[in-house]
Amino acid sequence: MLIKDFRQGRVFLASLDHGADIIGQIAYLADKKGIRTAVVSGIGALSRAELSCYDQAAHKYSSIRIDHPVELASLSGNISLLDEKAFVHAHAVLGDESGRTLAGHLTSGTIFAAEVCLQELLGLSLSRSADPVTGLNLWSEQK
Ligand code: ZN
Repeated sequence: MLIKDFRQGRVFLASLDHGADIIGQIAYLADKKGIRTAVVSGIGALSRAELSCYDQAAHKYSSIRIDHPVELASLSGNISLLDEKAFVHAHAVLGDESGRTLAGHLTSGTIFAAEVCLQELLGLSLSRSADPVTGLNLWSEQK
């Protein structure tokens, strides 16, 4: 188990740009505000999206393309460092007009409207590196 202690830093609420990619907008906001570690949450609506699901045996992501408008019922994730750059890791629950949901790792999404909260965490750097067991870039001890 890896445990890191942080202090609460700044908290940002942002209404993201219509038509932009949601992951790119969160990364841009983090970069603009100098955020290296944060908890991310959000709600809104996307005009299209791509989720992925990790095949734990094959160590590969499979893609789920959604080419119609959906509610961004819930976005949760975090920001930490990958190759010394702020990296956004987000999961989402997306709902259609009948209330059915799809959920997974949020690869991309075109914003119709999105309100996000970034809660900055202050302390030692939290970095990702390749994990041999899962094949994922997971949080790791500093090298
Ligand atoms: Zn994920």
